[in-house]
Amino acid sequence: MSRCIYCDEAKPFTDEHVVSAGLGGDDKGWMLRDCVCGDCNTKVFSKLEAKFLRSSPVAIARLFHQEKTRGRGRKTGAPTLNTQQTLMEDRAKGIFLNQDLRQGFEPVILPQVVLESPGTLSAHMQDVATGRAFLSSLQASLAGDLLLIRKIKVGLEVAYEHTPLTWNATTEEYVASPVQISAKAPNTKDGVVWVEELIMPSTARSASRLTPRIYRRNQGQLVCAVVDLNDARGVLTLLRRNGGAVVVPEGAVPIEIESEGVHLKLAMSIAVHDRVLTKIGINLAAYLFDPDFVRRPEFAETKSYALTGKGHVLKIHADRHPSNQLGEANQLPGVHVFCITPANSGNDDSRLLSVMISLYGGPFESFALAELPKGTPELNDPIIILVFYNENRIERFSMNDLHQMAEADGLGSVN
Ligand SMILES: [Zn+2]
Repeated sequence: MSRCIYCDEAKPFTDEHVVSAGLGGDDKGWMLRDCVCGDCNTKVFSKLEAKFLRSSPVAIARLFHQEKTRGRGRKTGAPTLNTQQTLMEDRAKGIFLNQDLRQGFEPVILPQVVLESPGTLSAHMQDVATGRAFLSSLQASLAGDLLLIRKIKVGLEVAYEHTPLTWNATTEEYVASPVQISAKAPNTKDGVVWVEELIMPSTARSASRLTPRIYRRNQGQLVCAVVDLNDARGVLTLLRRNGGAVVVPEGAVPIEIESEGVHLKLAMSIAVHDRVLTKIGINLAAYLFDPDFVRRPEFAETKSYALTGKGHVLKIHADRHPSNQLGEANQLPGVHVFCITPANSGNDDSRLLSVMISLYGGPFESFALAELPKGTPELNDPIIILVFYNENRIERFSMNDLHQMAEADGLGSVN
């Protein structure tokens, strides 16, 4: 049995997308089979890619440009950002509303009931039908006992605080049972309410107040968001007592909210950017040439960097590169450009094999993959790979093909 090209261990292989599926690279013709082990694939790279796609600088471009992506399993989904909080400020009312950003940065108000003041509950929603459905399902959830769930960190691991709430019909309030910590989240949404901390956006400029609310995430979870986590039980009690009074009136129409913008709380992972792009470069070299080619010791350092984040990868400056040959290729519509190409190493008897990458029309970045002896055949000609990210199609081109394509698209000559 041959060994994993990354960890060099003889473990069972799983199929690896040459270009991450979430980047629009879900093309069945571009898979590495019997090259990458299941541990490297799912325990390391999948997690790394999830951060890269949903909370890195590229995630913003992806949300803006890419129409669809592979969802969980085989389902098609839309790209999303993994924010800790997305709030929109309703300046007229002086409150914040929980929001989602959909493809193209389209803001969508999540269905929610906001406790504007101790006596005032108000419902907010993107459209009347969604609002009605949310209110009736909320009332159904609040008719029973609840399980409060909060995501916490225990050491470096994620864990979940489970707090069962039982309704006391005499005192008309939820009573909490002792908290239990579990490594797992519940596998049902029924009767489950997630508790989330509301954080005042430092980007807010007005005197708007943070008020408790209960909203439904796009994926269906019910969330109680509060400034003080200890308030969740009281807020749910209040909602159960008075929630029936919140209705969407007949003839209601969605309102337009004047807003200065959206306040995102987003922890960006910058290091994963370099690691994921390095990995795609190695994958491309394995696919275009031979898996054994990237098993050469010259690739060891870069592979270890992609796998562990330890050490570093060499970023090559544009002037050491035939980058001018790629010209405005990154302005072809709807493509990522990858180019496996030689670069100067600074040594007379060696050359660097490098990958140049432009995602979503952005500038080219390049990473050295390996320093190889001059005359290594894989260093001969640049190979260009275009990923048509809205079509999940990947195609290989020569520099000549690219020039013709760019001219046909009116980009002028690619020198
Ligand atoms: Zn491995």
